[in-house]
Amino acid sequence: MAVFNGEHIRFSFSQLGSAFGKSVTPTPLDNGRILTYDATLAEKLGLTDADIKSDTFRALLSAEQPLAGRTPFAMKYTGHQFGQYNPALGDGRGVLLGEWRDNSGTLWDWHLKGAGKTPYSRHGDGRAVLRSTLREYLASTAMRGLGIPTTHALAMATSDTPVMRERMETAATLLRVTESHVRFGHFEYLFFSQQHDALRTLADYVIARHFPELAKAEQPYAALLQEIVERTAGMIAQWQAVGFNHGVMNTDNMSILGQTFDYGPYAFLDDFNPSNICNHTDHTGRYAFNQQPAIGLWNLSALGYAFTPLLDSAVINDILGGYEHHLQVAYSKAMRDKLGLSDAQQGDSHLFNALFSLLESEGVDYTLFFRRLSEIENDALLTAPSLSQFSDMIADTDSLSEWLSDYHQRIHHLDSLERLNRMRATNPGFILRNSLAQQAIDAAEQGNMQPTHDLITVLADPFDAHPALAHLAQRPAEEDKDLTLSCSS
Ligand code: AMP
Ligand code: MG
Ligand code: MG
Repeated sequence: MAVFNGEHIRFSFSQLGSAFGKSVTPTPLDNGRILTYDATLAEKLGLTDADIKSDTFRALLSAEQPLAGRTPFAMKYTGHQFGQYNPALGDGRGVLLGEWRDNSGTLWDWHLKGAGKTPYSRHGDGRAVLRSTLREYLASTAMRGLGIPTTHALAMATSDTPVMRERMETAATLLRVTESHVRFGHFEYLFFSQQHDALRTLADYVIARHFPELAKAEQPYAALLQEIVERTAGMIAQWQAVGFNHGVMNTDNMSILGQTFDYGPYAFLDDFNPSNICNHTDHTGRYAFNQQPAIGLWNLSALGYAFTPLLDSAVINDILGGYEHHLQVAYSKAMRDKLGLSDAQQGDSHLFNALFSLLESEGVDYTLFFRRLSEIENDALLTAPSLSQFSDMIADTDSLSEWLSDYHQRIHHLDSLERLNRMRATNPGFILRNSLAQQAIDAAEQGNMQPTHDLITVLADPFDAHPALAHLAQRPAEEDKDLTLSCSS
């Protein structure tokens, strides 16, 4: 296929030098074949159905052939895992294939995850299992559908290659596509290994490729750090508003573009539980749902420390000092949108907090509560039928009535339809519950992709009603709630 052979492809990152990683030859999958692909993303990249269905693309995804003859490259990075610096990280099972230029001129890193061992594999086998690959594929789609910054998944392949985890599983690959695969940990590596010229090279590369307008700033590196702080704060605000728990916020899993990156044992909250922990190796709850805003700052501080050869410490501290404000502003805006409030008012945070207390004490499904509230017109809010909308969720009707009355007080002067429209565009009917992901995985492992396709349909457009797939919006059975997952992937 000509499209994969030249004009669309360049590879600037691998040319930065040996401080940035190593060239590798991927290890092909046995009988690799495409399982599914993202037609929307393919179109955006300028790929036709025929391109995706070609044997060239199949071979690329199966780690049989590189992209346009370019030698794949494993990136070197380090990072803080659960607060501890680990110098031995890097692309241990994924490789950069090159940079793809779409028809608008935007460059996208193509990264093949699960392509076999690299110099950074340590004791790992360089593989990714079908289960975890599908989880990343589904989550990327869900986040994009929600309008939350994320890496994308163009396609995944399955194979006959066996992989041992807690049980025997199947090796798969995922073609991850995003404008940048640079992590906080890339900067940390060059800082801690005292390669400060290369650190500057990396900062210059990131500015030139991703933030060219910052080159004109008085202090471009300060402007870069500022940009990363703001994007990270904005992303985490959106996680908190939608109820997303990342689960492994190590600094090697933080993107310098402020995109949700590296999907492992993540969870979208079922019942509202602020101290939710989704990663069963997280014994202290470091990455619990309600810790994410603070961990965001911790991670940015680690990045800021790696910027000390580039910037004055006072400047770095000043920039980090702005994080909380950015997060608060973005979070308040997101919560106001969820409640259909068009402007900020004194007392809003009291309204939010009272609601959170109610949702937590009653164990209410976070997503379904807001979605139901998005169906009730202003004048109907304080009526018996309105209360009955929540009768299967909230037993404490006095507290519910009290909150609804405060809420009504706050919104009664707003146009009802405008309020409901704002809420329906912000409160998804569908989220990627772990129970749903697991059902899709179980079926996919048996060769049935229909549950995956159905899930993708609702997740890609989660604000729509999708009457034919309404069962995917239901509250999960008690035993299916709040699954915690292992990191093994
Ligand atoms: P993660 O927990 O996904 O953020 O991965 C942490 C580190 O372990 C990264 O450097 C990965 O490249 C590496 N890694 C994870 N799984 C494997 C594997 N199966 N083989 C080799 N390296 C791996
Ligand atoms: Mg990772
Ligand atoms: Mg991972």
